[in-house]
Amino acid sequence: MDVITLGETMVLFTAKSSGLMRYAGDFSSKIAGAESNVAIGLSRLGHQTGWISRLGSDEFGERIQSFIRGEGVDVSQVTFDDTAATGLYFKEKLTASELRLKYYRRDSAASRMSASDLDEDYISRAQFLHVTGITPALSEHCYETVLTAVEYAKKNNVKVVFDPNLRRKLWSEDRARSVLRELSALADIVLPGIDEAEFIFGKSTPETLAKSFFDLGPATVILKLGKKGAYVFSEEEEGFVEGFPVEQVVDPVGAGDGFAAGCLSGLIEGINVKEAVRRGNAVGAIVTMADGDVEGLPERDRLIGFINKTDKEDV
Ligand code: ATP
Repeated sequence: MDVITLGETMVLFTAKSSGLMRYAGDFSSKIAGAESNVAIGLSRLGHQTGWISRLGSDEFGERIQSFIRGEGVDVSQVTFDDTAATGLYFKEKLTASELRLKYYRRDSAASRMSASDLDEDYISRAQFLHVTGITPALSEHCYETVLTAVEYAKKNNVKVVFDPNLRRKLWSEDRARSVLRELSALADIVLPGIDEAEFIFGKSTPETLAKSFFDLGPATVILKLGKKGAYVFSEEEEGFVEGFPVEQVVDPVGAGDGFAAGCLSGLIEGINVKEAVRRGNAVGAIVTMADGDVEGLPERDRLIGFINKTDKEDV
């Protein structure tokens, strides 16, 4: 297994008409979850991935499991809970540009994940364990589950990758800051966005923010800077890695997960950090050009074509 990840995936319903959702008769639906997005992104690039989670014993849980399995991700560690429902959320389009999200995830099956759901042997077989700051925000049980997964990884020389993925609605600012720092300190690689870095350390330059994470303990910090690309601070390398130009951003959500998949794909193959980040920038850019979180994730040929095309245009 190249990468194992754990977290909650929900079904997202988007109202087709604009205005208050109480009037919406029709919805489109798809699945949404940062960690499963990363697993799917890596699988599409040809890597072996596994996703650990808990789903409700309901039709939405079945749908999520089938979808993720269909993308080639190992779901053997997913459990079903008879007493809790799969998390759902709704996107209300008040106007073309004004969105409102409504979550039905409190006490969801995934929020009941527990450390006893984890199989140390399974985690020990991976090269990387990917965790995010969303899971520990779901419940105290989930927080302990993430810490235990990280402990199993470290015990077995599996590298820990942490994406803070701040979700302000899920917890208090103080608690968020403290847990995001704790997990950054435990990780080998941290992938914060600039906003998250400023949330933890206060407003500053990318160089200073990346160094602040590095001083907590991880060997590699990769700070995401939106269309500008990313800033790397590691034991061996330091500096900006420029982003790729995008003709038209259709949907920026999911770029961070695509970026993580691209970077990890490079690191699995042992290319140097800046080259891996360049791959991350390319996947992030491609994802912004399609609607949805996983729809735009490229297969390997497309990714190579995109990178080569940009290189040629640069000449
Ligand atoms: P998300 O919205 O998914 O949470 P994020 O805040 O974690 O994203 P971003 O910095 O927005 O992370 O995007 C991740 C990466 O995707 C960037 O580092 C960059 O490589 C690429 N990217 C994002 N937006 C653009 C863009 N407009 N043009 C080109 N590349 C982009």
